[in-house]
Amino acid sequence: MSKSAEVIQLEGATLRQQLLTPIATISDYVTEISQSLPGDDMLREDLSRISDGCRNLRTQVGDLIEGQVLLDTREAGDLSKIRHDLKNPLNSIIGYAEIIIEESDGTLPENYMALLQHVVELGSEISGTIDSAFRHAANEEAQADEEAAIERLFASLNESSMGITINDEIAGSPILIVDDNPTNQDILRRRLEKHGFNCMLADNGHQALAIIEEHQIDLVLLDLLMPDMNGIEVLHAIRSNPGKGELPIIIVSGLNDARGIAKCLSHGATDYLAKPVEPLILDAKVVSALERFAYRRELNVLATTDQLTQLLNRRAVMARFDHIVEQHLAEEISFGMLLLDIDFFKKVNDTYGHNGGDAVLQNFAQCIKNEVRSTDVVGRMGGEEFIAIVQGTSIDDFHNICERIRASVENLSCEYDGLKIKITTSGGTYFSSELETSIKQMINIADQRLYGAKNAGRNRIQHLDTQDA
Ligand code: GH3
Ligand code: MG
Ligand code: MG
Repeated sequence: MSKSAEVIQLEGATLRQQLLTPIATISDYVTEISQSLPGDDMLREDLSRISDGCRNLRTQVGDLIEGQVLLDTREAGDLSKIRHDLKNPLNSIIGYAEIIIEESDGTLPENYMALLQHVVELGSEISGTIDSAFRHAANEEAQADEEAAIERLFASLNESSMGITINDEIAGSPILIVDDNPTNQDILRRRLEKHGFNCMLADNGHQALAIIEEHQIDLVLLDLLMPDMNGIEVLHAIRSNPGKGELPIIIVSGLNDARGIAKCLSHGATDYLAKPVEPLILDAKVVSALERFAYRRELNVLATTDQLTQLLNRRAVMARFDHIVEQHLAEEISFGMLLLDIDFFKKVNDTYGHNGGDAVLQNFAQCIKNEVRSTDVVGRMGGEEFIAIVQGTSIDDFHNICERIRASVENLSCEYDGLKIKITTSGGTYFSSELETSIKQMINIADQRLYGAKNAGRNRIQHLDTQDA
């Protein structure tokens, strides 16, 4: 028998008493409240969930101490499983009591509020009893010291409000809750919806991955122990999805041991929440994860956008181009690339000044964007050179699109300071059927053709082998 198991066995009799007494008290309180309640079905349902939690917990404590479960326990892993199973019903006892208090808005008589508050306290007490029973005896004193030190620390900070603030950036953020236990789902959902977040629910990993694929999700709360696909497997699947790899994922689990937490974080989890979930910590971690995600997204937009035209910048274009070439090689999706340069742009600057030139660049950018699909790549390579890459068309269709762009630039009147500035553009193209493999070479080819178009008189686009003059 392992040392921890011995410790618990020794404590068995007192432990049983320490657990069953508060459980019985909670049951009594809940019965008292529900017997004298007005017909509020929602409240009644929440109360019956607390009763269910008590019944469940009582059975488990009985099994644990009277039966052979503990005596047969050899491995630390088994102990942590038992602890996890005990914490689950406790989660719903504390969770629903807190939710009833939070949602009552002064409609419940004060003596009931006090009873529910007591339920929460008793629940935390039971949770603490379970923790200390499972804690290795040698660590106990150190832990108690630490708890006292933490209390002193926060007292010294003298924080007036522990509340969270939800700024506009993250207000109403879509959050996915993944848990096979409907009670856990419900508790998390109701807490988060109170802050205005939009929650979606998944019962298992496969469902979670499908929701992430189809919906915009800004944060995932992920249970660890689930049938079929466990939390770590879901974590891996999300992290290896190129479009979703950055999504914040908070693991929510009752397996609250240091090695497990470290493992989750090293597998790419953003953070970790222990069950039963402490509302203040849930709020703080959710807000912090959403804020970091929003900030990262903002930085990403700044790093990939050309400030003047709001098109993709050169670096972002190259990244998208890489992906398009990969898709061509793997799935034979065709693509055509058009390099554009405004004709006699220096004259625009000379005639209308630099601001006039800038206005022309903005008009020009919008004009190209209007001529292609929103999923196509349009970017500014620098100065007055632009690029458009379209996917999945035939070479003839691609040439038609290029011609359409050229013509609409010719017809464009760039608005600046009450004036209408006319421009034309020249272009060179590359099409995927030319079978180059290096992007650098593809751009060289298009650039040479662009140079050819300039020499041939401008306001034209030169394609593969066409020497149109
Ligand atoms: P060509 O028909 O041969 O392309 O003639 P061009 O006058 O367009 O030739 P060139 O490429 O030499 O000139 C580009 C000019 O674009 C030079 C540069 O001052 C100007 N330019 C580059 N970036 C910007 C910008 O951000 N704003 C403005 N207003 N002008 C820019
Ligand atoms: Mg030019
Ligand atoms: Mg140029």
